[in-house]
Amino acid sequence: MSLVDSLKRPEYTGQNRCLPCTVVNSVIVLVVALALGIFSPFVGLVVLVGGALAVYLRGYVVPGTPEFAPQLVAAVGLSHVFGHDDEGELRESESLTADVNPEVMLSTLLDAGVLYEEEDGLYLADHVREDWEETMATLRKADDEELADTVSTAVPFDAEVSPQFDGIGIDGPDMSVWMSRAQAIADVATIFALSEQGVPASIRLAATEPMRMFVEVCPDCGGPVEETTVRNCCGGTAGLYDSPEHAVLACSECDAVVYELDE
Ligand SMILES: [Zn+2]
Repeated sequence: MSLVDSLKRPEYTGQNRCLPCTVVNSVIVLVVALALGIFSPFVGLVVLVGGALAVYLRGYVVPGTPEFAPQLVAAVGLSHVFGHDDEGELRESESLTADVNPEVMLSTLLDAGVLYEEEDGLYLADHVREDWEETMATLRKADDEELADTVSTAVPFDAEVSPQFDGIGIDGPDMSVWMSRAQAIADVATIFALSEQGVPASIRLAATEPMRMFVEVCPDCGGPVEETTVRNCCGGTAGLYDSPEHAVLACSECDAVVYELDE
C-alpha cells in the first residue's frame, strides 16, 4: 500500500464523495490559508496545498464535517446546487405500526395461510403473492395524489394523507409518519391482500413492515429487488442513516429501499 493509498479514505471519496463536505471544506481551507498567508505567505501556501490534498484524498479535513456540511448547505438554500433538493433521499421512510404482539401476528398469518413455514424459514404463499404483486402493479401507475387517496382508504383509522417530499405523509390520531412511495405502495398492497385472506385490521397494519421482507419486485418501478447495502451521503442526518452503511432490500433499478435488514 502506497502512502497515498493509506491516506485515502474511500468511504468519503470517489463515488462516495459528498459534494457539500468537499465544497465547505475547500472554502474553509482557502479562508484559513489566505488568513495565514497575510502573516506568512509560506505558511499560507503549506496550509493551502496540505488542506487541498487532504480534502482530495480524505473527503474532508475539518473534523465533524459529515455532521454539519449537509445541514449548512441546506441552511443557506444551496441544496439544489449539490443535487440534494430531493428531500426524500435523506428522509427516513417510517412504518405503519399497531400495538400487536409479534407472535400473535405471526400465528395469525400462518393460520390464514398467508405465510407457511419450511425448515429454512418462512415463505409467502403463492396465491397471496400473486394478488399482492398485482395490487402493487396497479398502484405503481397511480400518481402521488391517487396513491395518497388509496392509502387513506386502506388504513383502518381516519387520517390526513397527502403527497409529501416525493412520498406520502400520513397524519392519523395515533401516528404521524412519512413513507417513501415504494413502501407506501407495498404497505397498501399488503393491507388489501391480507384483508382478502380474512386477516383482522390491526394485524394487517402490524404486518405491513414485516411483509416487505418478501418483496421481490420493486413496488414503485417493477424492477428487481435485491439485498444490498446503502450508504447515504456523509452518513446522513436522520436515525437509521446515521450508520454509514446498512443492509437493505432495495430496487436495483430505481434504488428504492424496500426493507431495512439490520436495525
Ligand atoms: Zn424500483
